[in-house]
Order: sequence, then structure tokens, then C-alpha cells
Amino acid sequence: MSVFDTFAVVDWSAKAGSSPQRPSPDAIWLGVVRQGTPSKPLYFRTRQAAENHLCSLIADETAAGRRLLLTFDFPFGYPKGFAKALTGSDDPFAVWNWITERIEDNQETERSNNRFEVAQEMNRKFSGTGPFWGAPNPNDWPDLPFNMQEISYDRFDFDEKRKCDLAARAASSCFQLFFNPTVGSQVLMGLPMLNRLRTIPGVGVWPFQRYDEANVVLAEIWPGLIEAAIQDDTGDAIRDAVQVTRLALALSRLAPDRLERMLSDLPDEAREEAWILGARDRELLTDLARGELTVPIPLRQQPPRPVKDANLRPPPLRDDCFALPAGVDWTPVDEALDMLRDRLHPVVGQEALPLEDGLGRVLAEDVKALRANPPQANTAVDGYGFAHAALAGGDQVLPLVEGRAAAGAPFEGTVPKGKAVRVLTGAALPEGVDTVILQEDVTLGDDAIAFRSGIKPGANTRQAGEDVHSGDVILSKGRVLTAADLALTAAVGLKNLPVRARLKVAVISTGDELRDPGQAAETGQIFDANRPMLGGLVRQFGYDLVDMGRVPDDRDALRGTLDQAVAKADVILTSGGASSGDEDHVSALLNEAGAMAEWRIAVKPGRPLALGLWKGTPVFGLPGNPVAAMVCALIFARPAMGVLAGTKWKAPQGFTLPAAFEKRKKPGRREYLRARVRDEKVEVFKSEGSGRISGLSWAEGLVELPEGEAHVTPGTLVRYIPFSSFE
Ligand code: AMP
Ligand code: MG
Repeated sequence: MSVFDTFAVVDWSAKAGSSPQRPSPDAIWLGVVRQGTPSKPLYFRTRQAAENHLCSLIADETAAGRRLLLTFDFPFGYPKGFAKALTGSDDPFAVWNWITERIEDNQETERSNNRFEVAQEMNRKFSGTGPFWGAPNPNDWPDLPFNMQEISYDRFDFDEKRKCDLAARAASSCFQLFFNPTVGSQVLMGLPMLNRLRTIPGVGVWPFQRYDEANVVLAEIWPGLIEAAIQDDTGDAIRDAVQVTRLALALSRLAPDRLERMLSDLPDEAREEAWILGARDRELLTDLARGELTVPIPLRQQPPRPVKDANLRPPPLRDDCFALPAGVDWTPVDEALDMLRDRLHPVVGQEALPLEDGLGRVLAEDVKALRANPPQANTAVDGYGFAHAALAGGDQVLPLVEGRAAAGAPFEGTVPKGKAVRVLTGAALPEGVDTVILQEDVTLGDDAIAFRSGIKPGANTRQAGEDVHSGDVILSKGRVLTAADLALTAAVGLKNLPVRARLKVAVISTGDELRDPGQAAETGQIFDANRPMLGGLVRQFGYDLVDMGRVPDDRDALRGTLDQAVAKADVILTSGGASSGDEDHVSALLNEAGAMAEWRIAVKPGRPLALGLWKGTPVFGLPGNPVAAMVCALIFARPAMGVLAGTKWKAPQGFTLPAAFEKRKKPGRREYLRARVRDEKVEVFKSEGSGRISGLSWAEGLVELPEGEAHVTPGTLVRYIPFSSFE
């Protein structure tokens, strides 16, 4: 006859807020195996919901005459000596009561709990730093150290770890509240619940109470024991759901006498520290946990599917999005820019891209880390690892254990206090190691190392999550992905990234006088210089170029080309024909369409810009003059296209530098001069003529002179914007 009829495993969570509606990882999960048969794992969004369900489970099993082993994945006790130090009594329930009285859990209402405050209150009971550590923010909890480097557990009347943690080779410590594993937080948010469950008649807590007399036994387990069996389940299954189901199965499959022995063969410490059920039976439990699962396991949320042919487009722009305030003669540059920023919005759909294809693409959503970086504590150097707390004073001689830890090849087992192990850069810190000494700083003997005193605790190690925590937003919506971003997203476990479809930009030149490069050119004809320039800028900005060629000064021809461009592109850049003369057909057509504004902007160089919508697609009518066309493209079209493409607002980065030139400037307009930096001073092109294309090539950036009157002399500080800032 088996000892228990029903086996249940709870994966607890200390989350501040509720978990998502859709079953998700890192929430509360319950696995139940009743008379050998598993049920579908259950998901709870809040601790309260889970506790309610556990009360009904206890009532139902009891009513049905079934004996229940109800296990939880967090420590039921603290290291021996802690209870007395905190409460004056070595009764573990005194700690349960102490914590229960203080913990406030507002998970459903305020997405908060006071676990960090309670940990601080405990820390204040001890002189010096610790024992609790780990906070989301180093400044908010002054008595809760951000990491464990400053804590020496030698000072306390208790160890850092319990005997069962060492026996089970658990990496966790019940004093660690933040960064994975957050066992310490789970204890604080779990013990009050256990404290309530244990008041139900027939419920006993193992190993503090007699388990053989209780109908429902609450016990501690640790899913890490069956890790090797969990790895069998690849794919998209939610890991927590697999763990609770497999662990409940393993417990249910134990021979009754074996389970009896697990429950009764305990060291003395267990009476205060509690014990992990099966702590010494990793292999057996792992074997029993294996095999096919007959219950459905929920899957993780799939990444967003690519939007085919970008059918799913955001809403169109408003007809009046380019309207300028009436009655204003010349609009200042900054006002014009504010208007573009406020009235435009992204016009492209989104897709999921493998991150290696993401360079230069625009993030459509915030991106969160799926995994911490580093994922586990590891060594930053080649050297030897040991427990700092075990060092004696003075110079050190530590015997070496056999084996080593290398990147990707961890050391199995625990390094005993007072011994050291060979470690190589990037290796996960073996159990029992918190400090690493550089190989150059030791004398290596046959089976031991010697080194000078003075190494700091935690030296040469990297803490798990010290760079990025799992769940952190690492990159935000609107960011243009850099090569470094690809490294970051890969490091934190991402594969696909939600990006905007690439903005398609049509470029059209207008003018009867234009010829293509290589064509014969008669008197009065010039080569089309704007189209290759604007095309180049579009590509530099990371958009798709749709070259629509050039159009004569003919309204019907231009109408036809605009119609074609609308079908192929998200935005249209034209040059020439943007003023209000007889041959200015761009502005005439946009006016005809009723959604055009002549942008008279107080800027030099730059004749009026014609901004409008052609059948809902934004058109930037740039001046024909190549210098003005380029400046207006950089200053106005570039940030506007950024918004259409889904990026954040792009203000170019400028630098204040002394001028190497002299210039008198009249008030009224903002001026941009072709410029470059030599000998840390800004020089400008010899002519301001707006037809001087060679000056654009000569220049490496622009000098921006503000609207007011100015007399710049050599040495005057001016704002220089390199062309590289316009990317
Ligand atoms: P518009 O704005 O059409 O009156 O043109 C202003 C000046 O820019 C005229 O001298 C045009 O010949 C010149 N221009 C217009 N388009 C281009 C072009 N694509 N390439 C070079 N110069 C141009
Ligand atoms: Mg023209």
C-alpha cells in the first residue's frame, strides 16, 4: 500500500503583480498525480488564487479519503541558528509567524508587496551587512545590499546555506531576494501561505511535525533535482508546467518504503532548517520523472507571425496633417519640426525577423530579455575558485580538488570549504565557489595553490544578472537596431525580433531641363543631380528606394507618376517645381488634391517646401536646387520619414566648436552652411551659392546658425552637425 494517494507539486512565485491571463512561465503552477494518474497542470495568476485552490484540494482529497503529499519548491526553514537570532526561539514556526505578521501582499490590487522592506527589517537585527541581499534598485533599500559581495556569512551564528541545500547541490540561498534564483523572495511570499494552510485540521508540516499522523503533509521539494529529465522536453512547452508534472509523477512512482526512508532519514539540522525531499536521491527521482507525458502541457506564447505583404497597415494620415498655422508668414524651423513630430505616425506594418537580419531595422515593440546576462554567476578570468568565507587570515595555501570548470563544461559537485578548483574564463561558478584568484597571482604546487592574503570576496566573478535581468526591457520600441543590439538580443535568449516593415521611399525629379547621366545634353539642359543624391540618402537612412525617374514640367505626366508612386511606396520625395510659379506642378497638383500646404519655412537655403498627401501618401516637395534639396531633405524629410518608419524622433547630434571663419548674418532665418572640421575648428565652404554642388561634396557636415542676428568671428562657438549625425 502506498503512503500517499495524491501527490501535488507547487511551483511558487514571488511576483509583485498578477501573471498574464494566458498561461505563462515564471508564475505559479500546480502538478497533481492522483492514484498514479497525472492531471493537466494548473496555472494561477496570483498567490491568492493558488492558495484558494490549495484549500479546496486539501478539502476534496480529505473528503474522498485520500492522503495527500503537498509539496512546494521553496525552503521551509532558514539555516540553523537563524530562527534563534531572529525570534529568540529555535522553533521554525516562530520564524513563520514572525514573517506572516509582517508580509503585506497586494498582488491583485497594487501589484506590490513589501518583501524587500521585511528583509531590511531582518537585516537591521544584525550588525554589519546582510544576511539578506538582492534588490531591484541599489538606492531604494539602504539596508538591503544590492549584491552579496559585501556580506561575510562568517559573522553570523548561522551559515549561508542549509544542510539540505548543500546535499541537493542547490545553487540558491534563502537570503537572496533578487536576480535568479529569487528563492529568498519566494520564502517570504510563501511561508505566510503555508502558515495558514497548516491550521487546517489534518495538515502537518514535514519535517517539523509527525508526518505519519497527518492526512495532508506539506513538504519541501526542489525541481532542480530532476533537471536532467526536464531537458527531455524540448520545444515550446512551458518549463514550469513540465517540472511540476514530472516531479509529481516521480514522487508518485517511488516505492512506498523508499519514500518512507526519504521522509524519516534526516540529520538533526532538519528539525530547524527543514529538508528537501529526496535531496540525496537526484538520480532516482530523475529516472522516475522520465517517460512520456500523457497530459497536455501548455505552450509558451509564440512570437508574432510575420505580417504578409504588410496588409495590416496602420491607419492613414489625416488630410490636414501638414497644415501650417494660418497667418504666419515664415514658420520657424523648430515649429515646423514640432508639427511633423506631432502630426505624423508610423505608416508601415510589422513583421518578426530572425535577429541576424535585423541590422538597421526599426523595433516595432519593446523587447524584453528572455534570460539574464550572465545567466549564471561565472568567472571573469582564468584562475582558481574557492569560498572566500573559508579563508584563514594571512597567506593562503589551498588544496586543489580534482577536475575543473570551463566555459560550457561546468564542474559537477561542490567544492568543499577550504579547497580550491581550477576555473577558466566564462565557466559557471561551481557550487561552493564565490571568489576567484587570477592564475598569475598564485604559486601552483602539485595539488595546491598558494597566494597572498587580501583578495576581496567575489573578486574576479560576474554575478548572475549583473548586466541584464530576465524580463528587463532591453531595447525599446522605435529603436534602430545596431550591431551591438544584435549581440545583446542574442545574449538574452531572443531569436526573432518584432520589427517594422521597411519604409519604401519613391524619388521623383521634375523639370524640362533635366537629362540623365550619360545622355546627350544640349544648351540649357543639365544633368539630374538630385535623384542620385536623394536616392543615396534614402538608402543611408535604411529605407527601400523606389526610383520613379524624372518627369517633365507637365501636369498630366506628373499626375501619372505620382499615381504609380503611391502604388509602390509609403512616402514620396520630389525635387523641383515646389514653389508657386507657372511651372511649379508639384505644388499645383498637391493643391488640386486639396491636401497640400506650402511650407514657407524661415530657413536658408530653402525655397518653400510643398508638403501634402497624394491619395493618402505623404509627399515632400523639395526645392530643385541641389544644395537646398539636400539641406531640406536632411533637416525636414529625414526626421519625418523616421516617424513614418516607426523610429523615435531623430534630432541630429551636433557639437559646439570654435569657428575658423567670419560671417555676418541677418536676423529672421535659420541658416545652414556647408562645413567641415579641420584642426578642431569649423571651416565653411568658400561660397554660399545654392547651385554649388561641389560645396556639398567638400563639406563633411553643416553649421547651424540660429534665427537671430549674428556676427561670427574666428573663435566664436558654433554648432556643427556632421553628416554622419543624419543617419
Ligand atoms: P525649381 O525648383 O524647379 O524651380 O528648380 C530650381 C533650380 O534647381 C533650377 O535651376 C533647376 O534647374 C534646378 N534643379 C531642379 N531639379 C534639379 C535636379 N534634379 N538636378 C539638378 N538641378 C535641378
Ligand atoms: Mg523646375
